[in-house]
Amino acid sequence: MKSADLRDLIDETKKQLLHLQTLGLEGIQLTEMTVTTPPNKHSVVSAPPKREPQSSIAPSQKKAPAVSLFGNLVKPPEKLTASTETFDQIHDEIGDCTRCPLHTGRTTIVHTEGNRNARLMFVGEAPGADEDIQSRPFVGRAGQLLTKIIEAIGFKREEVLIGNVNRCRPPGNRAPMPDEAAMCKPFLLREIAVAQPEVIVVLGNTAMKNLLDTREGITRLRGIFQDYKGIKVMPTFHPAYLLRDPSKKRETWEDLKKVRDYLDSTAKSK
Ligand code: URA
Repeated sequence: MKSADLRDLIDETKKQLLHLQTLGLEGIQLTEMTVTTPPNKHSVVSAPPKREPQSSIAPSQKKAPAVSLFGNLVKPPEKLTASTETFDQIHDEIGDCTRCPLHTGRTTIVHTEGNRNARLMFVGEAPGADEDIQSRPFVGRAGQLLTKIIEAIGFKREEVLIGNVNRCRPPGNRAPMPDEAAMCKPFLLREIAVAQPEVIVVLGNTAMKNLLDTREGITRLRGIFQDYKGIKVMPTFHPAYLLRDPSKKRETWEDLKKVRDYLDSTAKSK
């Protein structure tokens, strides 16, 4: 096998393992198989030679340890560490922020708003013109559509938490640059650790890529629950995109119904 093919195979396997990890797989049970290379150089998997049991431990108790198939290629799932800080403390620390160049064009800083004990959180990209003036997330046309989406799954806007990766409006409503996002994102992550919602809906590519640290696109991951430190994350289209292409509302509705059904199921089991 060519080394490029082997690399592709490893990349693909790694992706599959990461996907299984998001579904709860923690390791893979080792079985006693050996890989040998016969003279023709093709690797084959063969059963090991039979050995007599050498200890008094019953075979059923001699379980091989669960290990990650590719060593540290697949990290154990990270869990959210609960935080005792408050949103006010986080916002005080942000202060009159000048950490990234976006501060030069902003009118106001737009913090996360809503119920700090929310079961459900929505994360967008960055404020637009209306948000920049009102100092509130998702209050423009896209925000009005988001409010309708929230209500369609049985919540009031004030019952959920709404935030953005970046808190200052990028010029011309462009997406935040990676270094701008990297500067602001830790504050969002700290708010998530305080609120610990059960589900986070990430709206569009920028929010999804930043929260999940993935290079996958929204079209591939939307509608499939992902994981952020034990919190379920549902990627879906950004409402501003739905305003440009209303035909995508049907898929968004399918995604949001999964969120509603999940939250209904966990509410019942409490
Ligand atoms: N778009 C976003 O991503 N966030 C807002 O707050 C408004 C529009």
